[in-house]
Amino acid sequence: MTQEIEALLALQQDDLKIREIESQIRLLDPQLVDLDKKRDQAAAALTRAEAAVQVEEKKQRELQARLSQHKTLQERNLHQLEDVKRMREATAATAQVESTRRLMAEDEGELAILGRRISEMNAAIVASKQSLAAVEHEQQEARPEIESKRAALLSQMVDAKRDRDGKAGSVSRPMLGKYDRIRGKRTMALYALRGGSCGNCDTAVPLQRRHMMAGTGEIEVCEACGVLLYAEVG
Ligand SMILES: [Zn+2]
Repeated sequence: MTQEIEALLALQQDDLKIREIESQIRLLDPQLVDLDKKRDQAAAALTRAEAAVQVEEKKQRELQARLSQHKTLQERNLHQLEDVKRMREATAATAQVESTRRLMAEDEGELAILGRRISEMNAAIVASKQSLAAVEHEQQEARPEIESKRAALLSQMVDAKRDRDGKAGSVSRPMLGKYDRIRGKRTMALYALRGGSCGNCDTAVPLQRRHMMAGTGEIEVCEACGVLLYAEVG
């Protein structure tokens, strides 16, 4: 095997390694995105729960105001009832007291229902706060882990690229250019002949050319798929 083939094979090893590191780094990004999404969802659930209870609490305040108006009215009604002397006025005043009592009972019934609803909603808020805190706690560990993985991969990448650049010097410039061009389009650029055919696409290479490649160590381009081909000698 010629030095050039050996150098290209070594270069290709490094390039595959670099590509592998790159794909591992890319896998980390969605993990961070997922963490953000999970946290945002938990925070949004809490915001929704808090907004919903505020609406109900506003209703509660309005109802309490209405009830206290009705109570004031009822006090007046009761005074009036004490004051009235004549029968017809007394009947009217009693009716007034009865009707206000019904209104107050309605107010109190609604307030009781609303109070139960609000306390359920407050329990939901507590639950939302707990799950947000759990998510944040979990992420306190997960985020630095991902970041340190990324830092480790980046430093591996720097080393691998330095190795690669060192080896690139042993390949002739035109061959390196060809190799890089082909590698830009596919994972691997250099293949060994396999049973007289291209190691990538399996198209047969004419016997004469194969002999020439084996004899001179020449690197040829596969006419079918365009990768670089070499003959493994011996
Ligand atoms: Zn081919």
